[in-house]
Amino acid sequence: APAAAVRAPRCRAAAAVSVRSEITYVMIKPDGVQRGLVGEIISRFEKKGFKLVQLKMMKVTKEVAEEHYKDLKDKPFFPDLIGYILSGPVVGMVWEGQGVVWEGQGVVKAARKIIGATNPLEAEPGTIRGDLAVQTGRNVVHGSDSPENGERETALWFSGHGIVEWEAHMKPWLVE
Ligand code: ADP
Repeated sequence: APAAAVRAPRCRAAAAVSVRSEITYVMIKPDGVQRGLVGEIISRFEKKGFKLVQLKMMKVTKEVAEEHYKDLKDKPFFPDLIGYILSGPVVGMVWEGQGVVWEGQGVVKAARKIIGATNPLEAEPGTIRGDLAVQTGRNVVHGSDSPENGERETALWFSGHGIVEWEAHMKPWLVE
């Protein structure tokens, strides 16, 4: 699909940007919204030191849901997964790392550590899923699994909007 093939554009002139930092697409799934966990989940990324560069509440279309999870389309749980994602509004967001890394990896890996294992019963306490969820089919949050998917999913969910460039002044207080 064309939306997925393009990189998420910066809001300001793309030509001026030579090096872009890693971004990850995080989404609070319908159960997280219904359970009143939006603030709690956003807060964990914000407190860690990630920089919020896009945020939106949305009603999901089947097309976007299926495109987002296209790598899982042959899995037996795929229809249930799409039904789950379509069951209510979601909150999509894009986070930039600004120096927060995990085991030498960037924001994508760091965000997945904070989110925890896919199955909440295997997710460590202290992670979002470990603390707030009990079942794989209701695991409250999504996070991109690679920098490429961070770009792809941002382009898909924020098609035409890009991300917001702003200077966050906390970086020298996070990293030496
Ligand atoms: P993750 O979201 O941790 O990257 P996957 O990409 O493997 O995990 O799966 C995407 C989503 O599909 C999961 O977050 C979960 O909501 C759902 N899912 C995965 N495996 C199962 C399963 N065995 N049964 C039901 N739902 C599943």
